[in-house]
Amino acid sequence: MTNLKEIQEKVNYDKLFDCVQCGYCLPACPTYETMERETHSPRGRINLVKMVAEGKAEVEDLRNPIEKCLGCMACMTVCPTNVEYNLIFEGAKEVIEDHDVKPAALKKTEDFIFNSLFPSSNWMGSIGNAAWIYQKSGLQKAAQTTHLTALALHAGRFERVMPDLPSPIERILRKRRVLPDYKLRTTVAFFTGCVMDAMFFKTNQNTVELLRLSGAEVLMPKGQTCCGALHSHAGKAESARELAMRNIEAFDLEDVDYIVNNAGGCGAKMTEYPQLFEENTTWHERAKEFAAKVRDISEVLVELDGLTFTQPVQRLVTYQPSCHLTNIRRICDEPRMLLHAVPGILVKELERPDFCCGSAGIYNLVNYDESMKILDLKMMDVKERKTNTIITTNPGCLLQMKLGIERHGLEGEIEAVHLVDLLMEAGPSAK
Ligand code: SF4
Ligand code: SF4
Repeated sequence: MTNLKEIQEKVNYDKLFDCVQCGYCLPACPTYETMERETHSPRGRINLVKMVAEGKAEVEDLRNPIEKCLGCMACMTVCPTNVEYNLIFEGAKEVIEDHDVKPAALKKTEDFIFNSLFPSSNWMGSIGNAAWIYQKSGLQKAAQTTHLTALALHAGRFERVMPDLPSPIERILRKRRVLPDYKLRTTVAFFTGCVMDAMFFKTNQNTVELLRLSGAEVLMPKGQTCCGALHSHAGKAESARELAMRNIEAFDLEDVDYIVNNAGGCGAKMTEYPQLFEENTTWHERAKEFAAKVRDISEVLVELDGLTFTQPVQRLVTYQPSCHLTNIRRICDEPRMLLHAVPGILVKELERPDFCCGSAGIYNLVNYDESMKILDLKMMDVKERKTNTIITTNPGCLLQMKLGIERHGLEGEIEAVHLVDLLMEAGPSAK
């Protein structure tokens, strides 16, 4: 059991006082909208965390409100006092995790998922899709005898919306260094991501090609691993720290201008690496240097401005931004600038683009019903735009939007596409 002092340290107790309980964040919070409870709003959650940190409420009282939080951080963008809800949220998750007494089978399964599966490129690469993971690894069986039953059940729904996966040969033949045809303008390292590389390998290959055409030498450091976002959001700070160290080590071996990713959630986590280490330590300094180089693909393509698009794309498009790209990285304009650069395309903004789609890491697996309520609101917005394509910038959002299309019977009418794949469709060539 953790004592009060430890709880206060983990939840960043001093930062709780930045919240003046004004309630400006309430309209921005998807779970407050769908659950209609103060305890499931940012303000209510912060208040509860404070009560637990002061010994006025039990950790157990925190569990449901925090576990139902998407971690979308929309509340941070509207808060007049700049409450660092991300730190409070992850600290609260850690406290809950510390107090969790789990059955041995569940703990074993969780350990496998977080410590062996996501960090292993071999596992992720060869497994290829979540359904296969559940069937072949024995996880499905383990999950069915534990509290992960619901998770296994809902993973099956995602099986139907899996993208086309590459053959093992394509993965093996991938080059770890590519050079531009013409003038070399920059050298970058590409962060492949775990889910991104397993499920959206072709999007990763397209990302490398767009960088190359823009004049970048692209390196793919071998020792890289999962970014740790899922671990942080599950309260597994120590595992997240270990993954961060492995990534910092792997990318330190290359002398590059940027570390590029195409997954909004991973990019945000990697810019938060310094928060995982104590200030004034060597690892904190190394994490700061690493984080300063992290860029989303859209930022780099706009900065290099090295592409022309030769193929008109007759699509009516709407854009569903990744919450973490928008709310943590504050990258809003660059993806839209690239969309508008594609000839033939017509872009219609969602009424509420900054409203989470309900994916949120594995939220849609562990909180399926709550996630679907949020997704249904998103799909109503999509349908009202009368577009035929939803563009996203994160693998979780992409799968969730595909699920939304299927759930609302819109297959054949609407398609969900990663921004990078759309740009490749537009016949990019070097300027
Ligand atoms: S988190 Fe910010 S916006 Fe929300 S109640 Fe607190 S101070 Fe107000
Ligand atoms: S992170 Fe998102 S779901 Fe959680 S309190 Fe903030 S706005 Fe609400």
